[in-house]
Amino acid sequence: MTKQISMLIGIMFASFNIIAQPLILTPFEISKGKNTATYDECITYYKNLAEQHDEIKVFKCGPTDIGKPLHLIVIDKDKDFNRINTYKKGKRVIMINNGIHPGEPDGVDASMMFVRDIVTKPEFHKLLDNVVIIVIPIYNIDGALNRNSTSRVNQNGPESFGFRGNAANLDLNRDFIKCDSKNARSFEEIFQKWKPDFLVDTHVSDGADYQYTMTYFPTQKDKFNPVLSTWMVDKFQPQLDNKMKEKGVPMCPYVNELKTTPDSGIVGFMESPRYCTGYAALFDCIALCTETHMLKPFDKRVDATYKFIVSLLEIVSQKDNEYDGKKYFASSYPVEYYQLPINWKLDTNKFDIINFMGYEAKYKPSEVSGFPRLYYDEKAPFTKPIRYYNNYIVSDSVKVPYYYIIPQAWSKAIDLLKLNGIGLKRLSKDTIIEVSSYYIKDYETSKRPYENHYNHYNTKVTSNTQMIQYYKGDIVIFTHTYGMRYVMETLEPTAPDSYFNWNFFDGILMQKEWYSDYVFEDIAANLLKKDKALKDSLEAAKKNDPNLAKDGEAQLAWVYHHSEYYEKTHNRYPVGRIMKEVSLPLGE
Ligand SMILES: [Zn+2]
Repeated sequence: MTKQISMLIGIMFASFNIIAQPLILTPFEISKGKNTATYDECITYYKNLAEQHDEIKVFKCGPTDIGKPLHLIVIDKDKDFNRINTYKKGKRVIMINNGIHPGEPDGVDASMMFVRDIVTKPEFHKLLDNVVIIVIPIYNIDGALNRNSTSRVNQNGPESFGFRGNAANLDLNRDFIKCDSKNARSFEEIFQKWKPDFLVDTHVSDGADYQYTMTYFPTQKDKFNPVLSTWMVDKFQPQLDNKMKEKGVPMCPYVNELKTTPDSGIVGFMESPRYCTGYAALFDCIALCTETHMLKPFDKRVDATYKFIVSLLEIVSQKDNEYDGKKYFASSYPVEYYQLPINWKLDTNKFDIINFMGYEAKYKPSEVSGFPRLYYDEKAPFTKPIRYYNNYIVSDSVKVPYYYIIPQAWSKAIDLLKLNGIGLKRLSKDTIIEVSSYYIKDYETSKRPYENHYNHYNTKVTSNTQMIQYYKGDIVIFTHTYGMRYVMETLEPTAPDSYFNWNFFDGILMQKEWYSDYVFEDIAANLLKKDKALKDSLEAAKKNDPNLAKDGEAQLAWVYHHSEYYEKTHNRYPVGRIMKEVSLPLGE
């Protein structure tokens, strides 16, 4: 493979090179926009670039499910390659993630040219004064190696490309909370080490046809840290839109139709933290998902992605005291954030109007079935105002506890909290602690597996205060500190992507003891005789529920569930909430 790569090194010498070096061409350029780099070509290309330019360094990072390491390319004008030094110098970090869906490789090839050009073209090179760039060349290595020409049936190039699933057939863009793949853990290690201020995750869109080559969505503004969100919407996005327009690539928000076609209105994407951008946003990172349009030729899509990354760099490289102030403030959550939202719903009454450049949606008889079929008429382009629904309102919020406490038995949750840099300590001795405990009152479960899980949704809880025995080594988690949003959206069971909903705690959902009814009949009768309140509640329950009234076994079970014999730990969510400041015996 190395031989092939060496053939890719062009003999062209660029007159604008800072250092007179042969300009290494990418497989995309050599094929005149027809091919995307293979995994080996991509990594070898970056290694060759790094040999030529000492402002580029290639890091071998953590493992992936296919057994190959994840690579990270760091571009630092100062050749420090050290996050702490970038903080000290007030530099910002842009992270670019490519090939999470290897069938959508536009960012892979755009980044290869971008990284080369940024160190060789003077007009770009100066943009590195205030910015360090980190690039994951291909995140889903497993999928990239599974190359084919058919799995993106609707896509207009390249000639061959990788497959969406990774080695364990996971969609890595749903894996950022559950972290089933090694890829996700390695990504999070990189993310937490570099703590990027901005992130781009590059994709190619499916869906309706329209005139735009590039659409994108930023992290959902109403879910994002409110301090940074206003800057993102008022200052950052208008600049990004203008810069892309100036470069001849007008953009539109990601086209997520309200009904069948974009004329019905488009809906701002709500990315929960299972997605790359949703995960990044939990850590106050402005995250952008580029979605080039599948029907536009591959070379045009790569060009649009390249221009998007350049535009982002142009904005981020400007000194902006307002951004710096807000970032600083956002990261030190003030105590007012005691009540945090964890669920949102679309406000269907509120919308903006955007001028949309589409193609007319029409119907004609299908040659397959004879029934009417939708098509977009590219000979009938239009620009007309459409509704853009991008306002989400809080549907559920919770009081932030002083601490969470997790028994050490739940090691997957604890490992992931650690991986994400969450502040935690172990109890240094066995201790009984007063906690607010949730009971899982109701939930639904997917009937078929979704991304390796039978995940839960519509989870409802009740809570009460209990004294619970904890043991030396159990984990106490600090909340009002770095990663607070991550802690809340994973540990609050009703949050859509909570660890509970991803099955981390399913052990609690199964009752362990039961009774023999012929024996418990007499015990239950005695209980009802002795406890008038219990008897009255049973009578009331029977009045409210006719099925209970005519079912003797159900009544016996009702008494059991309302007695001291019923196990307290059934459906008791194991993560306790400590609601007041207490002194706890803490060790390491
Ligand atoms: Zn994608």
